[in-house]
Amino acid sequence: MTQLLQVKTLTKSYGSHKVADSISFELEKGTVTALIGPNGAGKTTTLSMLAGLVTPTEGEILFQNKPKADIRASIGFLPQYPKFFPWLTALEFTEMAARLSGVDTRKSLDEAKKTLEFVGLGDAMKKRTGTFSGGMKQRLGLAQAIVHKPELLLLDEPVSALDPMGRRQVMNLLKELQQETTILYSTHILNDAEEMTNQLLFLRKGALVENGSLDSVREKYANPRILIEFESNDEADRFGAVSSWAFNKERRLLVIDAT
Ligand code: ADP
Repeated sequence: MTQLLQVKTLTKSYGSHKVADSISFELEKGTVTALIGPNGAGKTTTLSMLAGLVTPTEGEILFQNKPKADIRASIGFLPQYPKFFPWLTALEFTEMAARLSGVDTRKSLDEAKKTLEFVGLGDAMKKRTGTFSGGMKQRLGLAQAIVHKPELLLLDEPVSALDPMGRRQVMNLLKELQQETTILYSTHILNDAEEMTNQLLFLRKGALVENGSLDSVREKYANPRILIEFESNDEADRFGAVSSWAFNKERRLLVIDAT
């Protein structure tokens, strides 16, 4: 397998708060990996550093074994809350995104059209993005992230905000995309991770606490002793409010952190 991305001791501090704390991992080409962790764990910050939008305080990101000053042409990024210019049509917006990501201006319109067809917005490409529903916006966000055919696709909580139908549509698109590119996507919902991949990076309070297959992580935390090792009374108190993660016996491994 070819190594696509190598992340070494990546750290981001805001004042004394280490939001990402010495994170190291590698991604092989053609793989799908879920960056999982509760809200506030540092997922967005980590993805933003990989996308070149946030400058790391320390650490190194190697893309195909080389440090790259501008990796944006090789990377597609879908932010958690994608923003569009509401007065532009979906086609205008996607073409603009294509050009900004380095697609030749003679090809950008065609590529934008093809990509909008792919994400199921073929009939809506002449509509202004300001009229789009949440699900359509998420698919448009995906279109701008993939229009330049990136080698690495970074997706920040791509389905968390969607209703079941929107979620299904985006999941199906991601399954098609995984044939063509390498995907790293964040989620705080284990089911969403599970559906796409068995490879997990598990972030807790800015630190990478697990890196491996879901099965191995599950096995490790199947030991109930670990579940009652809280860091403090405060953490134990918050345990009750861990949302859906605490409910399912299978999913209890994720209750090791409360948000
Ligand atoms: P996640 O995506 O896992 O929810 P984030 O990366 O958004 O986590 O945030 C991790 C922590 O970093 C949070 O405590 C958040 O408040 C803090 N944080 C994120 N961005 C900034 C910033 N620009 N300035 C200060 N703190 C920040």
